Amino acid sequence: MPGYELFGAEERKEVNDVLETGILMRYGFDAPRKGIWKARELEQEICKYFGTKNAQLVSSGTAALTTALAALGIGFGDEVIIPTFTFVASFEAVVSVGAIPVLVDVDDSLTLNPDAVAAAITSKTKAIMPVHMCGSMAQLDELKELCTQHDLYLIEDACQAIGGTYKGQQLGTIGDMGTFSFDFVKIMTCGEGGVILTNDAQLAEKCDQYSDHGHDHYGKDRGADLHPYLGYNFRISELHAAVGLAQIKKLDAFLALQKRNHQIIFNCLKHIPGIQFRRIPDEAGDTGSFLSFFLPTANQAAQVASALAEAGIGGNPYWFDNNWHYIRKWDHLKNAAFLNRIPAEQKEAIMQQANKTFDVSDAIMSRCISSAISLAWTEEQAQERGQKMAEIISQFIA
Ligand SMILES: *Cc1c(COP(=O)(O)O)cnc(C)c1O
Repeated sequence: MPGYELFGAEERKEVNDVLETGILMRYGFDAPRKGIWKARELEQEICKYFGTKNAQLVSSGTAALTTALAALGIGFGDEVIIPTFTFVASFEAVVSVGAIPVLVDVDDSLTLNPDAVAAAITSKTKAIMPVHMCGSMAQLDELKELCTQHDLYLIEDACQAIGGTYKGQQLGTIGDMGTFSFDFVKIMTCGEGGVILTNDAQLAEKCDQYSDHGHDHYGKDRGADLHPYLGYNFRISELHAAVGLAQIKKLDAFLALQKRNHQIIFNCLKHIPGIQFRRIPDEAGDTGSFLSFFLPTANQAAQVASALAEAGIGGNPYWFDNNWHYIRKWDHLKNAAFLNRIPAEQKEAIMQQANKTFDVSDAIMSRCISSAISLAWTEEQAQERGQKMAEIISQFIA
């Protein structure tokens, strides 16, 4: 799954280019940087690779989501639909702009159930934010249709699905805006970083300015820049961008390895009676970063997850018990445990949303195990791992 597994000479070379000049900042210092513009170059590479008109690098995937929401003008009183199965960053970004995360059930694709989304739309809804979890895509045609019908924005959280496609189009480029995370465990990494993708030039300009204190970036002199509105500092550094520049050049290789190892594990597990695999809306577009499957019962899934860990086969998260990726353990959200004071109205709405029951999601997530796919396995190692997994899983299904 993660690009850090193949960190090497290419990354060191790009980082060294920056160390040679000592200009670690992405803006300004035109003379001493001697033509080294890693962030700018990475943005150009991202536009080329993913087929988007604009890419704005920022300091994290969370910053990318926050910036996208702000650029779309989403804020106090607005509702944003997100799935019950995601990373906490989804609701962190929504609450940070003052909006309400509306949690909606997932289905056997492990992504937003379009019917449940339709039922959750109100007059306050401004956007649907599907998350392409664990390397594979949400049901984008259905969600796009809902956005058109109800005049909503589609913001794709493609942080876990870099390089995945849907009907031939890159994930992250299909909605009004899309985001990737380049944190250390993502399909490609900058160490820390993220990016916002959009084909809309006006939204792109807002992202460019918002992520740098509102600097309008029209002149050569940063000090003389105007500030059309308030922004934040979500800048990426040149050192981080340099790592990403090396990684994007290896992304095709990462994806090929990942898909190969994914297929090997799948072949080992596919004949086990009773095992059911995650539904993938467009199989050809799966990144292969995880192989997700369902056991017949929740009990069996919990037992298999522990048995795999006990057998020393790591990297098989049982999300139902996970503190960070599933609603069940998000007590901080359920209690609206903010450090800072927030408006009573927002707090009440957040708690109301987070404390709903999610029986449909529970029934799915309690039977699900995702097996992380490593880039570092040889074919033999993947085969051996897959066989061991099959033996263990079979014992519990019998
Ligand atoms: C990693 C991740 C993020 C946040 O990215 P950071 O760069 O860690 O802030 C957002 N959404 C999902 C689904 C993620 O997996």
